[in-house]
Amino acid sequence: MKYFIGNWKMFGVPKSISILHKINYYYSKDKNRRKYRVIITPPYTLIESYAKYFKKKKIIIGSQNCYQKDQFSSNTAAISPYMIKKVGANYTLVGHSDNRSEGDTNEMLKNKVHFALKNNLKVVFCIGENKKEKKNKKTFSVLKKQLSKVLEKKFNKNNIIVAYEPIWSIGTGKIPSKNELEKTAIYIKKVLKDIFKKSPALLYGGSVDGNNVEMFKKIREIDGFLIGGASKSSKKFIDIIKNYYR
Ligand code: PEP
Repeated sequence: MKYFIGNWKMFGVPKSISILHKINYYYSKDKNRRKYRVIITPPYTLIESYAKYFKKKKIIIGSQNCYQKDQFSSNTAAISPYMIKKVGANYTLVGHSDNRSEGDTNEMLKNKVHFALKNNLKVVFCIGENKKEKKNKKTFSVLKKQLSKVLEKKFNKNNIIVAYEPIWSIGTGKIPSKNELEKTAIYIKKVLKDIFKKSPALLYGGSVDGNNVEMFKKIREIDGFLIGGASKSSKKFIDIIKNYYR
């Protein structure tokens, strides 16, 4: 199974659902539709209405984050995995670099993964090195730490997807070379196999568009994409899927 996940970040109001109508129309008619899933993570404010609308349709709705506690608590503005699941989301991102840079620690991320899985949300766990770490050849050690400090053997790997998103690539138009990404993806899958015996799906994220997807699709270890900027346009998002299967 392949995955095309659109992360809207801080974008969208109720009428932005028109973008998803177009994507859903393409998806429901696509002859390749059984080979992949489309998941969109709008902001919290839109999850309930979008999930209700797409309940019996193809697009799956997820959340961009969740709080590291179960059910209810006294943390102002926090949204728990329980609350997210109850309004119809089926996935959540955990550990996006935007949230790591705002203070998410490995311990917090472990709790997020734990409580998300407990509440029947599938987890898209994001990892990735920054520009300085890459320059200092620390990529592999950073990735290994991000994975091994959070993911545990006892977690159900069938409900986890890992998204490799080099921070220097997010929103910059810069992407790794094929050779570089291939080596990194092989390494990540090796670390994941050490934890789970069998690796969960691995996505790439960072400036993916309809042109560069031609290169990414040649990498066997990559099972799909986490797409930021290009997911806010139905045409750009559909182009990625079209060119992937061309
Ligand atoms: C992201 O923020 O997860 C992302 C991949 O963004 P972009 O596609 O815009 O680089």
